[in-house]
Amino acid sequence: MLSEALGDEIEVTVIDRGDSFAFGFSKLDLMFRGAGMDSVRLPYAEIAKPGVTVLKEEITAIDPEERVVTTDAGRHEADALVIALGADYDLGATPGLAEHGNEFYSFAGAEAAAGPIAGLDSGRAVIAVCGAPFKCPPAPSECALMLSDELSRRGVRDRCEITLTMPLGTPVPPSPETSAALSAEFESRGIDFLGGMRPTRVEPGSVVYEDGTELPFDLLLGVPKHRAPDVVIESGMTEDGYVPVDSATLKTKYEGVYAVGDVATAGVPKAGVFAEGAAKVVARQLIAEARGEEGPAPYDGRGSCYIEFGEDRIARVDIDFLSGPEKTGEFNAPSAQLRSEKDDFGSGRAARWFGL
Ligand SMILES: Cc1cc2nc3c(=O)[nH]c(=O)nc-3n(C[C@H](O)[C@H](O)[C@H](O)COP(=O)(O)OP(=O)(O)OC[C@H]3O[C@@H](n4cnc5c(N)ncnc54)[C@H](O)[C@@H]3O)c2cc1C
Repeated sequence: MLSEALGDEIEVTVIDRGDSFAFGFSKLDLMFRGAGMDSVRLPYAEIAKPGVTVLKEEITAIDPEERVVTTDAGRHEADALVIALGADYDLGATPGLAEHGNEFYSFAGAEAAAGPIAGLDSGRAVIAVCGAPFKCPPAPSECALMLSDELSRRGVRDRCEITLTMPLGTPVPPSPETSAALSAEFESRGIDFLGGMRPTRVEPGSVVYEDGTELPFDLLLGVPKHRAPDVVIESGMTEDGYVPVDSATLKTKYEGVYAVGDVATAGVPKAGVFAEGAAKVVARQLIAEARGEEGPAPYDGRGSCYIEFGEDRIARVDIDFLSGPEKTGEFNAPSAQLRSEKDDFGSGRAARWFGL
């Protein structure tokens, strides 16, 4: 947006330690659709926009007062700094998870989980969310439904149990309609949902919860506790684990410094569509500033999340967290048509963002 509006009048530097992006939902494709990282990776190499430079560097320090970012390759000073480093996983917060389970929230973890998923032909699979907030609240439910499909496809569903546990009371608390639809689907597929359960540790073959419950498993698919990346915590910008921002503007308390996406506390769920919506508001502000115009409308916290319901059906929940007096999450029932809408969502962004 900055490049399209201002072209060479503005220098935009994008710094990422990686050389590509992949949609969060691609993790489910790695686990259940036989995809490999090469087929879901969207390289930055084709980005060609006036004024934009993409640097593959590791950020080692952030000075928000001075708006200076230090990397393994040097120092970058900025007039405006946008922190978008996402959330990291704290596997150590749930001892035993790394050793005895399969976390599936990183790309490497999702890829590694495909083998144990394919190998399960009897016993119990536990999908355990180890902390909240966590990215894409529907994703663990999608995982349970896609696992059920996978076991049915191999003719072993009757010999397996699936249990999904979460610290939250319902599958998607901000949308009671979505939670009800997911609960009905779980019931019809024989998936047990246990809400309000937080694991304290994992032992070989069993998850131990805060209330003392022990759940034996043959396959554990875990969502690790999340936290802001160390470099962000060390910058002193975080409060209660993440970077507080003004929800309307995404401004931090530091002059000229913004934070968007999973790293920020903007009053919206941690999901890519909200990172995108927040980033657009920041871009509009910077464009307005450069042109001496009035600032844009406040961030509305709206976004649509596609939910894999299994059997190749997709549902959609339309979230609106900030524009009205109440948070709303309107549910659109699963259908084959929403499958093609989700495909277009991905391919349209791959084209616009990466020139692919
Ligand atoms: C299983 C699963 C399914 C999901 N499905 C959906 C979905 O259907 N819809 C949806 O909207 N969201 C979904 N999400 C959530 C979505 O992936 C995230 O919310 C989104 O990627 C957050 O974007 P972000 O830019 O804040 O962070 P990220 O996408 O995590 O990007 C952070 C970037 O910072 C870089 N970085 C981090 N530290 C450093 C450093 N020190 N130096 C340099 N670079 C660094 C990383 O390389 C990365 O490119 C899903 C997530 C999971 C796990």
